[in-house]
Amino acid sequence: MTNSQKYDMLFKKAELFMKENNPCKIENGTCLRGRTTTFANFCCSGCSHLKEEGCSVKALRCKSWLCPTAEVTLPLEKRKELYKLGSEIEKSRMSLARSSKEENLKYINLCLRRN
Ligand code: SF4
Ligand code: SF4
Repeated sequence: MTNSQKYDMLFKKAELFMKENNPCKIENGTCLRGRTTTFANFCCSGCSHLKEEGCSVKALRCKSWLCPTAEVTLPLEKRKELYKLGSEIEKSRMSLARSSKEENLKYINLCLRRN
């Protein structure tokens, strides 16, 4: 499997997890943390990939990350599932936060050249 294929496979897994479990519970443009705490609404604020219509890239690390407010709403088994996926992503080394697929692939190619 190429790194590009692996990235897509992990992204699909993360996307499905978030879709099935809906931890951010977005309602009328506000996420759970935005509604229940004094912290910022959405963890994307200030990101260069954030456009008016939302995230403009395929960001694997972001897709598999949750703030504590959202994470604690998941049952333990689901949290374990998410940690497992997180460690799979870490192992793949395509885990740059706030980064696109292209940025992650560029990074891993640089790492491979150094090894
Ligand atoms: S992870 Fe937290 S801050 Fe980010 S969108 Fe979900 S609830 Fe909001
Ligand atoms: S790259 Fe991450 S932080 Fe940036 S807009 Fe996309 S999901 Fe949000």
